[in-house]
Amino acid sequence: MKSTTFHIHVPIQALLNMNDDELSGFASHPDGFAALRSELRDMLSDGEYCLVLDNECDNKNPDGSCAGHITQTVN
Ligand SMILES: [Zn+2]
Repeated sequence: MKSTTFHIHVPIQALLNMNDDELSGFASHPDGFAALRSELRDMLSDGEYCLVLDNECDNKNPDGSCAGHITQTVN
C-alpha cells in the first residue's frame, strides 16, 4: 500500500510576525533570532513562502513547501 506523507510547513510571513519566544518553538539559528529573521526575509525575496520544519525534506515545491513523499507501507 502506498501513501504520501507531507512534512509540516509554516508560512514564512507568520514566522516573521512572531516574537522570539514564539519563534523558538518553530525554528532556530546558530547566530540567533536576528540572523534567523534575515534568512527568512531572504527566502521570501527568493519567492519562497513556506518553511518546512524538517531538514530531511528533499522534495520541495518552488514556494518552499513540502511536495510530499511516497512511502511504501506493508500491512
Ligand atoms: Zn517533505
